[in-house]
Amino acid sequence: MAIQKHDNLINGQWVVGAHYAPNINPSNIADVIGDYTQADAAQLDAAVKAAQAALPAWSTGNIQARADALDKIGTEILARREELGTLLAREEGKTLPEGIGEVSRAGNIFKFFAGECLRLSGEIVPSVRSGVSVEITREPVGVIGLITPWNFPIAIPAWKTAPALAYGNCVVLKPADLVPGCAWALAEIISRSGIPAGVFNLVMGRGSVIGDPLVNHPGINAISFTGSQGVGNRIAQQCAANLKKVQLEMGGKNPQVILDDADLAQAVELSVQSAFFSTGQRCTAASRLIVTDGIYPKFLGAMKQRMAGLKIGDALGAGIDIGPVSSRAQLEQDLSYVEIGKAEGGLLVAGGERLKLSAEGFYLAPALLTDTTAAMRINREEVFGPVASIIRVKGYEEALREANNTPYGLSSGIATTSLKYASHFKRHSQAGMVMVNLPTAGVDYHVPFGGRKGSSYGSREQGRYAQEFFTTVKTTYIAS
Ligand code: NAP
Repeated sequence: MAIQKHDNLINGQWVVGAHYAPNINPSNIADVIGDYTQADAAQLDAAVKAAQAALPAWSTGNIQARADALDKIGTEILARREELGTLLAREEGKTLPEGIGEVSRAGNIFKFFAGECLRLSGEIVPSVRSGVSVEITREPVGVIGLITPWNFPIAIPAWKTAPALAYGNCVVLKPADLVPGCAWALAEIISRSGIPAGVFNLVMGRGSVIGDPLVNHPGINAISFTGSQGVGNRIAQQCAANLKKVQLEMGGKNPQVILDDADLAQAVELSVQSAFFSTGQRCTAASRLIVTDGIYPKFLGAMKQRMAGLKIGDALGAGIDIGPVSSRAQLEQDLSYVEIGKAEGGLLVAGGERLKLSAEGFYLAPALLTDTTAAMRINREEVFGPVASIIRVKGYEEALREANNTPYGLSSGIATTSLKYASHFKRHSQAGMVMVNLPTAGVDYHVPFGGRKGSSYGSREQGRYAQEFFTTVKTTYIAS
C-alpha cells in the first residue's frame, strides 16, 4: 500500500513543505505510519502571516461561534477515540488503553474550553476619583506559537490550542518531529470545524530548522512551550530579548515517598505506575522512590515481584502493560543512564536491558536501581524512560528533605496512612502538584497543571488558570 503523505495547514490550505520525513512505529520499525512534510523558514513565515491576517476578525468575533467550533472539535475527537488512540499508540508507543485515554483527555479539553469561551468575565470597580468608573477586562494576546514535545502527541497540542483559540488568539502549532501524526489529525479535524482559515496553522518540521524562525518571528506575540529544560532555557532567552510573553513546561525528577505506615500493596502499585507506565516517558513520572527503613525490605521484595509480572511488548498488543521506548535515541539515553547509575555505585536489581521481541522495536525492561544517593546523576538528571532508583532514608523528615533535594519541582507523591505526614508533606513539598496515595502522574484536565523550580516558568496551563497566559489585562477608565 502506498504511504500516505501529510502536509502542513497554512491559511486553510494543505501545503507541501521542503521534503517529507517518515513517521516510524517504535513497536516495529518496519511499520511506516505515513510521510509528513517538513516546513522551512519561508513556510513558517507564511503561517505566521496567515495568523496575523486572521486575528482581527477572530479576536473580536462571535463567542457562540467560537464555542460551537471548539465543542465540535471535542465531539469528533471523542467519537474517534479508538482510531486516534490507535494512531497515538502506533506512533509514540503508549499502550492502546493509554493512547485512548490521552485522546479522550484531548476531546474533553476542547469541550471544557468551549465552555470557557462563554465564561470569560471582567470587573467593574469604583475609582478613587469622583465621576470615574474603572473596567478591568481580558483580551487575546495575539498570535501564539505553540511548541510541543513527543510524549503526549495529542493531549499537549490540545491543551495549548484549545485555550489559545477559546480566548480569541490565532495559533501556529509546531509539534514534535518524532510524532506529527496526532497533531496532523487534530489539524485536519480543526480544518473542518468552522474555524476561519488562518486562525489555526500547523507547521511540521524540526525544531533545529523552524524553532528559531518561529520563536524570533516579529509576528509572534507569545510562545507556549513544553519540552526539555535545555530548549526551554534557550526559548526563554529569545523571548526575553524580544519582550515576548513565554510559558515553559519542562522536565521533572519527581519523588515518590513511601513511609513505614504505607499500605504496602498500594505503595507498590502506585510506584510501578508512576515510574514505568507510559514507558516512564511522562514529565510527571516518579524516577526517585524514597523509602523509609522500616518498610524498605518488604517494599523492595514486592516491587521486584510486581516488576517481574509486567508485560512489555507491542503498544497495540492485548494485555501489554508497557510499550516500547519512543525512539532509538531515547533508548540509548535510557541505557546510558542505567550504566551511569551503576558506575556511581547503584545496584541494578531489576530490568535495564534491551529486549528483543519478534518485531524489531525499542523495547527496554523497566530498570530499578537501589543503593543510590541524592548526589548521584541518576537522581539529579531527568532520564525520561522506565528507569527508577531507590533512595533509602531513616524517617519522614529525611524523606521530605530528599524529595525536595532536586533542581526540579513538577510533581511529588507520598504513600502513607498518616494524616499528620500527608498534611505536612502537602504543605512542604516543593512541587507544583502533590499526590497523596496516588501516582505522581495522572492529572485532571480542568485544573491547573505546572511546577516550580527548573520544571516550569510562567503561568500555569489548563483549567481556567490558562487564561493567565492566553489573555492580557486591560484597565479602562470612563468618565461618567
Ligand atoms: P525537546 O527536545 O525540548 O523538544 C520539544 C519541542 O521543542 C519539539 O517540538 C522540538 O522539535 C522543539 N525544539 C527543538 N529545538 C528547538 C529550538 N531550537 N527552538 C524551538 N523549538 C525547538 O523535548 P522532547 O524530547 O520532545 O520532550 C521531552 C521533554 O519534555 C522532557 O524533558 C519532558 O519532561 C518534557 N515534558 C514536560 C511536560 C510538562 O508539562 N512539564 C510535559 C511533557 C513533556 P523537534 O521535535 O524537531 O526536536
